Amino acid sequence: MRAAIGLDIGTTAVKALALDETGAVLARAEVGYPLSIPRPGWAEQDPAEWWRATEQALAALRVDEATGIGLSGQMHGLVALDASGRVIRPAILWNDGRTAAECDEIEQRIGLGELIARTGNRALTGFTAPKLLWLRNHEPHHYARIAQVMLPKDYVRLRLCGEHATDMADASGTLLFDVARRRWSESVLDALEIDPAWLPRLLESPEPSGETGAGVPIAAGAGDQAAGALGVGVDRPGPLSIALGTSGVVFAALPEFAADESARVHAFCHAVPGGWHAMGVMLSAAGSLQWLRDVAAPGVEFGELFEAASAWQPGAEGLTFLPYLAGERTPHADPGARGSFTGLSLRHDRGALVRAVLEGVAYGLRDSLDLLRELGVAPGRARVSGGGARSELWLRIIASVLETPLERPVVEEGAAYGAALLGGVAAGVWPDVQAAVASCVRVRDEVEPEPAWVAAYAAGRERFRALYPALRTFA
Ligand code: ADP
Repeated sequence: MRAAIGLDIGTTAVKALALDETGAVLARAEVGYPLSIPRPGWAEQDPAEWWRATEQALAALRVDEATGIGLSGQMHGLVALDASGRVIRPAILWNDGRTAAECDEIEQRIGLGELIARTGNRALTGFTAPKLLWLRNHEPHHYARIAQVMLPKDYVRLRLCGEHATDMADASGTLLFDVARRRWSESVLDALEIDPAWLPRLLESPEPSGETGAGVPIAAGAGDQAAGALGVGVDRPGPLSIALGTSGVVFAALPEFAADESARVHAFCHAVPGGWHAMGVMLSAAGSLQWLRDVAAPGVEFGELFEAASAWQPGAEGLTFLPYLAGERTPHADPGARGSFTGLSLRHDRGALVRAVLEGVAYGLRDSLDLLRELGVAPGRARVSGGGARSELWLRIIASVLETPLERPVVEEGAAYGAALLGGVAAGVWPDVQAAVASCVRVRDEVEPEPAWVAAYAAGRERFRALYPALRTFA
């Protein structure tokens, strides 16, 4: 079996896919690892676990002949190595919130307007640069040993082929990268006194970054959002990509670089050479449903919860959920924001709580969509992926709230699929990213907005938006 392989180094597991030249999935494997929460609001992982899981996942695919390998993975995480190549401390992940003071420090040192002009983004706790400053401020003995800094998937690359390299899309989430000019930002590195020699070599996503011992090329790859968008066929301006995983993302490929003037949506490089994208990110999307199930219905199948929610009319008789369980990025950039249920009555049951969660997440996605529209993005449709997209009811709610039809692709493992396409391009299986997408990505079916629900959701959105000011920065 000859196959292009995609690896997605996720927060809970490595997902691996093997594709043939038509994009058909020949094999899939998933190997999990633990997440460490040493203190409230922190999130860490041992890079050695990613490598162990990658080796197991690759073996489980049972591919005789890999043509190329593409990497994708959780973005923003800080992996620091010393001069002898040893990992200095556990990686600090994208969903770790310890760096609020360092974010303030960065925006004060550089100035918010200047930071957005130089990087396309503002300082958010999940990004890489504030984590480096945190290390300098709180663990100077670790900081003093740093010789190399990299992102999670790039640690796996180092183990696969010995190269210290990254791609423009993943570099975009470090806050050390000039997104408009596609290079490390010397002025930001200077202002933050960070040694540029620590950073990886930059490549475009489909470019080969090195070879395995067996001579298999390894594409630079991309952060999971850009790879996921490729995996559902969003390689150019057209349909949006909406990912309904633990976090939620509304992603638009852009015709040229454009940044929101106060960086409420992220402006990043796309996994297509010379391409950019903008995206809004919700920290708790399907994660909100997972939370509700864990606390109110442990062990109950998701199908049963959706069935109970479908008994309620849109708007759940005024019950409104704010999904800011872990703070929120878009549109509030507020790590201290908190969630809520408001409008509870004696009639509300478990199904109503579920319905309100599904709707609250949809309203949050609509906030991101409206900000993208301000950038000039005018989507006629969107492609959906992620665990939450398995629910027909949730997709009908989201289509109605966004007033946009949603297309479901044949293969739903967005990021690993996109990574496999990049691996295939690096190996010459397809001439470029656009050709790979055109040969491989297919739409299965479409979910339309429910005309009878649209007005109820327009009213619900007003209720939703009015509630946040009372919940901002609760800490
Ligand atoms: P991650 O971002 O962690 O990779 P996934 O894309 O796998 O997450 O999505 C996981 C989420 O999908 C869960 O938190 C849960 O809320 C949701 N989910 C899981 N199964 C279903 C289902 N059958 N229908 C709808 N949502 C589901």
